[in-house]
Amino acid sequence: MPDKKNNSWGEGELRELLCLMMIGCCVWIVGTHLGLFTLLIDATRTHELQDLLMLTLCMSLGLVAAAIRKSFKLRRAMQDRDGAEAQAESVARHDAMTGLANRRLFRESLAARIRTTTGVPLVAVMLIDLDRFKPVNDVHGHAAGDAVLCVIADRLRALAPTGSLVARLGGDEFAVLLDHGGDPENLARLAQATIASVSQPIAWTQSRLKIGATIGIATASEESRTAEALLHAADVAMYQGKRDGRGTFRFFHLDMGHALKARATLEGELRVGIDRGEIEPFYQPVVALPGRELIGFEVLARWNHPRLGMLSPAEFITLAEETGLIGDLTWSLMRQACRDARAWPSHLQLAINISPLQLRDPHLPKQILGILNEAGFAPGRLEIEITETALVNDLEAARTALQALQTFGVRIALDDFGTGYSSLYHLRELQFDKLKIDRSYVESMRLSSERAKLVDAIIALGSSLGLLTTAEGIESGTSVDWLAGQGCTYGQGYLFGKPMDKATTDGLLRLWSDDSGRIVIAPSQAEASELATCDLPGLARPTVGRRAAA
Ligand code: C2E
Ligand code: CA
Ligand code: CA
Repeated sequence: MPDKKNNSWGEGELRELLCLMMIGCCVWIVGTHLGLFTLLIDATRTHELQDLLMLTLCMSLGLVAAAIRKSFKLRRAMQDRDGAEAQAESVARHDAMTGLANRRLFRESLAARIRTTTGVPLVAVMLIDLDRFKPVNDVHGHAAGDAVLCVIADRLRALAPTGSLVARLGGDEFAVLLDHGGDPENLARLAQATIASVSQPIAWTQSRLKIGATIGIATASEESRTAEALLHAADVAMYQGKRDGRGTFRFFHLDMGHALKARATLEGELRVGIDRGEIEPFYQPVVALPGRELIGFEVLARWNHPRLGMLSPAEFITLAEETGLIGDLTWSLMRQACRDARAWPSHLQLAINISPLQLRDPHLPKQILGILNEAGFAPGRLEIEITETALVNDLEAARTALQALQTFGVRIALDDFGTGYSSLYHLRELQFDKLKIDRSYVESMRLSSERAKLVDAIIALGSSLGLLTTAEGIESGTSVDWLAGQGCTYGQGYLFGKPMDKATTDGLLRLWSDDSGRIVIAPSQAEASELATCDLPGLARPTVGRRAAA
């Protein structure tokens, strides 16, 4: 509808109208002088009346001309406004950088497709989240990031079946809305092709940028028949894909929704639980080999959950990491452990696990030293265990944090050694005090001589670098002498004790201590009889091994 301002006559237009009427008046004067109106003269009327009639006619022509002009102007204004409206509409529904539909248009189109179908529509949402996009932005700059997004948009457009809608929902998240024709295989094939296409390197100045994609797919069903529900379901499936290792696709199924709800509940409970001190330190003995003298404990988290009972770290550490609660959890645990250890002999050490994410925190050394100070626990009694993931993510941040801690006497152990993919590189790059040989090696060395040789090689590597070594996961007495013989410094595993709470630890410390203050975990009777019958495959069980002898 034309607005009021366009509809009414402006000052200029009134002047124009007067002008045209004046022109009409002039036409009348000229016409009268030239006798042009004589043909139109009605003999029955008086001369003045006829003049007046002609004058009115001429001026009315001016009025009509002005009205026609005005209506043309109005039409043009309306066309301009419609064009501007359409343009604004398009801007509001498209992503400016890639030209793809944006979240709003995607949502509206999805809702429209669902609305216009009777029964359950054969519509699917494919949510595509880029992997490793952030490093591209961080390392190569935002121009590189923008270029990558545009290339990905083109690749998605090229792959999308006719009739589908490709959108950029925001950041590095894209989506495709499509009909699956009742065959989920089509969707699986398209998801695979999309991952393959996105993973192709992208040329940028001198570099080739490589990113990936994780995809969540949701199809409309009786349970999820609204745009919101479908988008949410695809999101849940996508996050499952991320958790399963990225570069993959997952279809949504209802269990995922339930799992997500349970996770949200657990997250809330963990927040409260940390404050209430429900996360308790358990202590697993670490002994010197071969004498089995206790040198300290590894602190392992347990959640004494009011509803679910005692939970192991596998059930909450990742959740704590993903929700940013890992810092609070670790500090609470460290405070409790330092407090517990005050009553124990002062030579006993504590080893605490630090999550990879925490190494990025520039305040980490200050935080740890603050807690030690507060608890009156000597830094020389503390060991920090880190896994290689921490180093892969940000080697420089790790180096700074670890060096700062070592300056104060805190020791650093490389945990789960042998499970990362560049262990040797990290050993060269960073100064560790100890290697912890992963349980998987120690467990399997009794079954295969090849594995035993690997363990032997790791111990040799550690001692050549001047590092202490701990073999984790020792469950059998047969391993102990052999490990000690190869030069392994410490042992940890169920053979010497499972992780236990403070009260149990207090009790056992009293039981194990002898008069001289030494604490030795003696072999059990069962172990002694096992030792008599069992041997390591392919390797002689040394009473005194090569490095031990050397
Ligand atoms: P980890 O640091 O490698 O800890 C050793 C794990 O091996 C512990 O499992 C321990 O109970 C188990 N273990 C020790 N000896 C044996 C054995 O002889 N046989 C077998 N089968 N298992 C043995 P747990 O307590 O379930 O902890 C699992 C992982 O959770 C830990 O692996 C560590 O990575 C993580 N974790 C535990 N507490 C914390 C914590 O406070 N902070 C962080 N960031 N991670 C933690
Ligand atoms: Ca550990
Ligand atoms: Ca370990």
